[in-house]
Amino acid sequence: MSLVKNQEIELQIESFSSEGSGVGHYDKMAVFVSGAVVGDKALVHIIKAKKTYAIGKVVKILKPSKDRTDSDCEASASCGGCAFRHIKYGAELEMKRQKVENAFLRLGGIDKEIDEMIGAESITGYRNKAEYPVGFDGRLKIGFYASHTHRIIDCPRCALQPEVFSEIVKIIRKWIVEYGISVYNPETGKGIVRHIYIRQGAVSKEIMVCLVVNSDFLPKKDKLLERLLVISDIKSVVININKDKTNVILGRVCKTLWGNDYIYDELCGVKIRLSPLSFYQVNHAQAQRLYERAREYASLTGEETLLDMYCGAGTIGLSMADGCKDVIGVEIIRQAVADARVNAEINGIKNAEFYCADAAEAAKMLEEKGIKPDVIVLDPPRKGCEASLVETVCNMSPDRVVYVSCDPATLARDCKLFEESGYKVEKLTAVDLFPRTVHVECVARLVKS
Ligand code: SAH
Repeated sequence: MSLVKNQEIELQIESFSSEGSGVGHYDKMAVFVSGAVVGDKALVHIIKAKKTYAIGKVVKILKPSKDRTDSDCEASASCGGCAFRHIKYGAELEMKRQKVENAFLRLGGIDKEIDEMIGAESITGYRNKAEYPVGFDGRLKIGFYASHTHRIIDCPRCALQPEVFSEIVKIIRKWIVEYGISVYNPETGKGIVRHIYIRQGAVSKEIMVCLVVNSDFLPKKDKLLERLLVISDIKSVVININKDKTNVILGRVCKTLWGNDYIYDELCGVKIRLSPLSFYQVNHAQAQRLYERAREYASLTGEETLLDMYCGAGTIGLSMADGCKDVIGVEIIRQAVADARVNAEINGIKNAEFYCADAAEAAKMLEEKGIKPDVIVLDPPRKGCEASLVETVCNMSPDRVVYVSCDPATLARDCKLFEESGYKVEKLTAVDLFPRTVHVECVARLVKS
C-alpha cells in the first residue's frame, strides 16, 4: 500500500533528516515531516508522495516527544531560519552530534565519534549579522525567507538577532513607507531596496547598516540618516549596489553614505577591521571557542610556517601568528584581503602576508615556489575544498591540517580524499555556532597516517 497526496496518517517519528525534519516510516516508506520531533506520535497530512518517500506536515501531535518545548517565536513554523525552536537545546545538540557522525560515516566512509560537542551558552540574540530581504506583495514585507522559497515572512523581531537590529529595521521600514521608496521586485527587476544588511561588533558594539539597492544612489538618503543616527552605536552607513537579477544578496560595489567604510571588532584578542564584503563568523562567543580549538589542533611551537586558506579578514591566521614563525593567508575577496593586511598592521603583526587569489590556484603557486607549510588551515565556504586543492595540500606534506567547516557533508567528503592520500582524521570537534538552526560548525585535525 503506498501513500497518496492528501492522505492523513498516524506516524511515529523515529529519526530526523539532515535538514532537521522528523522522519517516520509508513509501510517501509520514509515520511519526512518538518516540525516533528523524534519521539512524537503525530497525525500527518501527506503533501507530496513519491515512489520512495513522502513529505507530510503535522496536523496534530497525538503524543508529544519528551524533547519538545514551546517555540518562543511566532514566525518559526514558517520561517526558514530556525529548524529547532520547538526542541530542547540538549536534544538539538545530540541531533547535531549525530548529523556530523553520520556524515563522516556515510559520505566519508570514516567511523569517527566526535571528541567534543561544544554547545552555546547563549542560544538567543547571538548573531552579529542579519540580512533581511525586503519585498512587496500588496504590503511591505521585511523579514526572512520561508523554508526553501523566496517568499518573505514578515518578521519584526527575530530571537537570534540583537534587539537593536529590530529597532534599525523599524526605522528603515518607516522611512520606506513615509517616502514611498520603491522595493525591489525580483520578477520585473525593478524597484530599489533589496535587502537590509546589518552587522555589529560583539565586543566593540559598533554597527554597520548596509542597504542593498538596485540603484547607484539612495533617494531621501538624508532623511534616513537623520533617523538612523539616533542610534549612537551606528558607525557606518553604506549602500551595496546590486543590479543583477540574482539570488546572491550582495553586489561587488559598496558606497559609504555616512561614517567609516568599515567597523571594528575584536576576536581572540585580535582587533579586526571589517568591510561589508568581508566574511566574519556570525556567533562571536562560539567563534572564539572554535578558533581556540583550531589553535590547539595546530599544536604550534613558534617554528611553523602556517598557511591559512580561505582566510577572509585574516582572523584565524592572525590569532595564531604569535605562535608560529610566519603566516601566509589566501582569500579571493579583494576587500577581505585589504582588511586582513590592515588587521596585521593595526595589531603590530609582522610575520603575516596575504594573497588575493583562488585557494586551489594559490596553493599550486606556493607549492611551485617550494613553500613547505608545517600547518595548513582550511576554512572553505559550504561547498568545501576543490579536489585539486586537497591534492596540492597533500603534496605539500604539512605535519598537520586543521580543517574548519560549516558543512559536515563536504567536510566528510574532503576528509575521505585526505584519508586516501596518507592523512587521517585524528580529532574532531563540533561547535554549535548556529543554535536553533540546522547548521553546525566543525573543526578536524588531520595528521599523517
Ligand atoms: N577564515 C575566515 C573566513 C572563512 S569563510 C574566517 O574565519 O573568518 C570562507 C572564505 O573563503 C570567505 O572569506 C570567502 O570569500 C573565501 N573564498 C570563497 N571561495 C574562495 C576561493 N575559491 N579561494 C579563496 N577564498 C575563497
